[in-house]
Parts: sequence; structure tokens; C-alpha cells
Amino acid sequence: MTKLNIRNCARCKRIFIPVSGEKICSDCRAAELAIEEQVKSYVRDHPGITVNQLIEGSGAPAKLVWRMVQQGQFENSGLKDAKYPCGNCGKLITRGTYCEECAGKLKINAQKFAAAMNSKNRAAEKKAQSSCKTFSDSMYDAMTRGR
Ligand SMILES: [Zn+2]
Ligand SMILES: [Zn+2]
Repeated sequence: MTKLNIRNCARCKRIFIPVSGEKICSDCRAAELAIEEQVKSYVRDHPGITVNQLIEGSGAPAKLVWRMVQQGQFENSGLKDAKYPCGNCGKLITRGTYCEECAGKLKINAQKFAAAMNSKNRAAEKKAQSSCKTFSDSMYDAMTRGR
């Protein structure tokens, strides 16, 4: 059973088909990329500015700028104060979602979670297989009886 994988664009609300889990449609993505390029060239033109000066000066949405910071798009660009709080403990970081410490801890948790999910999936698979077997056996019986 394949469910049709469609989604409403988080920006323009139009329905689109995500290729790899995107939340916005290709049009909005293209518009966003254009802004990202403008933001990057703004930093190149104004070396040594802070993130807030960049947001104010370029007029780009703060959320987008911070996401670019998070993605490491300004590394070695001369942007100052490109720090934001770790998603877990609030310590100021310059890249990723969590500080190294939390990332390490969360990775362990994620691995545990994945392991738990795997054993659950295996159990479900087994169940599916056995019910499938019962189904075909009864089908076979019905067929042989029919002959
Ligand atoms: Zn859109
Ligand atoms: Zn942290």
C-alpha cells in the first residue's frame, strides 16, 4: 500500500510533492535560495558585521538568517556573534542544533531509540509473515477443495 506523498507548502500553502522531506514547495525554495544568496553577498560586502546587523541591514527574515547560521553557511565569512542557544541546554553554540555535549548524549538516546524501534519492527514483521502464511494456507485449502 503506497500512500500518495503530498503536503501543503509551509509558506504558500500550495499542495506539492516533497522529494526528500521538504516542507516548502520548489517555488518557495527557489525564492528562499535567492534570499540566501543576497544575505551571503551582504555579509561579503560588510565583513565583521553581527548577525543582528545583518538581519536589519539586509532585511532578510531573522528565522532564515539563523537557519543559515545553524547550517554553517557563514563559517569563515567574518560574521560576528553568530551564536545561538543549544536546543537542549541553552549554551551558546555556533553550529548544529545542540552543543557537543548534548549532541553526544542525544546520539546515545537516538541509538537506543533506534534499537528499540528495530526490535519492535522485527516483531511486527514476524507477525505479518505468519499471518501471511496462514492466509495463503487457507487460500490453498480453498483452491484444492474447489478442484
Ligand atoms: Zn510554496
Ligand atoms: Zn547543550
